[in-house]
Amino acid sequence: MRYFDICIIGGGHTGLVATLAFANKKLNVLCVEKKSFKKNNKRDLELRTTAHLMPAVNFLNTIGVWKHLESHSCPLNSLNIINSRDINNNPSKISENTFEAKEIGKDCFGYNVPLEKSIKILRELAISKENAELLEATSLISSSLDGEFRIAQLSNGEVIKTKLIIGADGSNSVVRDLSNISTFERDTRQTALTFNAKHEIKHCNVSYEIYKFGGPLTTVPISDEFEGMHSSIVWMNKEDYTKKLLNCSKKEFSLKLKERSLSILGEISPITNLVEIPVKFMVAKKLISERIALIGEAAHKLPPIGAQGFNISVKDIETIVNLSTDYPNTIGCFEMLNKYQLKRLPEILGKSWSVGLLNILAGSEQIPLQNLRAIGLEALNNSSFLKKTIMRFGLG
Ligand SMILES: Cc1cc2nc3c(=O)[nH]c(=O)nc-3n(C[C@H](O)[C@H](O)[C@H](O)COP(=O)(O)OP(=O)(O)OC[C@H]3O[C@@H](n4cnc5c(N)ncnc54)[C@H](O)[C@@H]3O)c2cc1C
Repeated sequence: MRYFDICIIGGGHTGLVATLAFANKKLNVLCVEKKSFKKNNKRDLELRTTAHLMPAVNFLNTIGVWKHLESHSCPLNSLNIINSRDINNNPSKISENTFEAKEIGKDCFGYNVPLEKSIKILRELAISKENAELLEATSLISSSLDGEFRIAQLSNGEVIKTKLIIGADGSNSVVRDLSNISTFERDTRQTALTFNAKHEIKHCNVSYEIYKFGGPLTTVPISDEFEGMHSSIVWMNKEDYTKKLLNCSKKEFSLKLKERSLSILGEISPITNLVEIPVKFMVAKKLISERIALIGEAAHKLPPIGAQGFNISVKDIETIVNLSTDYPNTIGCFEMLNKYQLKRLPEILGKSWSVGLLNILAGSEQIPLQNLRAIGLEALNNSSFLKKTIMRFGLG
């Protein structure tokens, strides 16, 4: 039976960063990923991008990863929130709030990185580490306690002994289910259409969030190699409207996209497949069990607003990796895991409820809530203190 200090279940974005961060602390790490990348099974999801806010970038820098991602990234200098409403059946701008990183003394809020590139680079880095191993096309079947260890049964027939199992296996986490950890869940009945688009007007490193009934449409700039003419789009809608959009011809879809984006980027059309993702809200009621900890979407899945999902996951990773150095001989003990839960659960709950509430306000068709949204955005425009506070909260 092979022994590893840490066994990470899930080699997605979160699991791979966690593998590299633990390996950086000279721990012996195994990362188990259900999918096989060798078959070149490109996941549609990977075509989208992930906005890395500065705290996440700084952490990736300390573990020696950021330098590998930087050249593929696009800085996010400014965020424009536009409130819109249909007037005489035409989407019309009601108000616009501009948040500039320089207002809080920063060059940029963070960087936007293509997910597919990121995963590829992170995998290669994990494979190159001497004290890390990546087992692909393998999943966790079961696990049991054996004194100060966890024994993990894997689908390839191997049995592993470890001090700590980390569940980084996404929102349908097997690790969470095997640990009988229940969740708060809410189906928003929204779907997000994600794709990359080419547009006529340069993005100038600005991300736009355009609020309207059904949910926001977000444009996030993609790196300069496309001369500022490409952005990643997340278009949230009620499920039935998304179905209608998917039945449109390419030309009709581009017209609707231009109309919905209030022509801020001029003519605009998709250059990748449209990927439909259900928008779910889920938070685990506990983050730990005996010699088990949850991180990333295994612990929290939020609507894609304000670039919080992966950025919160990086905080999970940073916290548990730092705690592991406080317990060099007793990694995974109750005291260490309890500290992890005490440090992370309040912030996860706080961020999750704020994003959940923002999603309700951003997409509501009820006039009182639309008015509340307008009043809130107006208040932000009139108070530089409130605006700076919101920017700092968003950055975490
Ligand atoms: C449209 C959209 C846009 C987003 N944009 C942003 C953004 O700009 N910024 C941001 O911070 N966040 C963003 N997010 C959120 C972010 O993408 C997610 O939080 C993040 O990708 C989740 O990564 P994860 O590794 O935790 O989970 P997953 O990506 O779900 O990875 C889990 C991995 O575990 C594997 N697995 C599952 N079960 C097992 C098992 N039993 N054994 C072994 N392996 C298993 C899976 O194959 C998978 O590879 C966005 C999300 C969406 C939907």
